Amino acid sequence: MSILEVRDISKRFGGLQALSDVNISVAENTVHAIIGPNGAGKSTLLNCFVGKLIPDTGSVSFDGQSVLGRKPHQINQMGISRVFQTPEIFADLTVIENMMVPCFAHRDGPFRLHAFESVPKERHITEMAEAMLDDVSMLEKRDLHAGSLSRGDKRRLEMAMCLVQEPRLLLLDEPTAGMARADTNNTIQLLKDIRRTRNLTMVIIEHDMHVVFSLADRITVLAQGTPLVEDVPENIKGHPKVREAYLGE
Ligand code: ADP
Ligand code: MG
Repeated sequence: MSILEVRDISKRFGGLQALSDVNISVAENTVHAIIGPNGAGKSTLLNCFVGKLIPDTGSVSFDGQSVLGRKPHQINQMGISRVFQTPEIFADLTVIENMMVPCFAHRDGPFRLHAFESVPKERHITEMAEAMLDDVSMLEKRDLHAGSLSRGDKRRLEMAMCLVQEPRLLLLDEPTAGMARADTNNTIQLLKDIRRTRNLTMVIIEHDMHVVFSLADRITVLAQGTPLVEDVPENIKGHPKVREAYLGE
């Protein structure tokens, strides 16, 4: 069953047609990668899923409900979370303080866990934050300033901040961009662990083919705002259209 249905999305920026008639169907509990050369429209597409951009035409529905016309925080409350291309964390706060922000938002939002209401609230929030940090192997860094973390750890913290909200759909925009190989491999492992232990669908935009082929169940290749091919990874490797899009052959 598909959890995200994208139908005939188009988006124009002035004279530039960034997306034209994009159709994508993402099956529940899968990892769906969107790849394509720089400027293909990948981030624009993701922005349409989270309410940061409104497409000119088409529809986007999540779990049967339209997301178009909703504000980013409302879409977030529907169960869609996004990891940005540049980590969006509070550099001057500590790791645990960063974690508290989505924890409070989550508790006070529509997903409030009534079962915990008898527990003193602050304590529960701290426990929730610490448990999540432990899940991403960041607990020992809880009191460090987020600004002082390595790129990989910043990404890890940002992912924890998303996951603590228990999203059903996690959108990742180039999660390994600018990372050294060791951090990239750690991120792949983290995403594999997340996938194994949680009921979660992921849409991942990624340049690094090693990451894409390690994680994706299906791949859509986007070029100049249009999907060229969609298939399982085995059939994408060496596909003539993909080589053409990347290498101009
Ligand atoms: P990708 O993420 O695949 O590299 P983007 O979605 O960022 O590509 O961009 C697709 C095209 O749209 C690019 O040519 C980019 O310059 C253009 N673009 C993206 N956002 C805007 C914007 N806010 N205003 C004008 N042009 C934009
Ligand atoms: Mg991009």
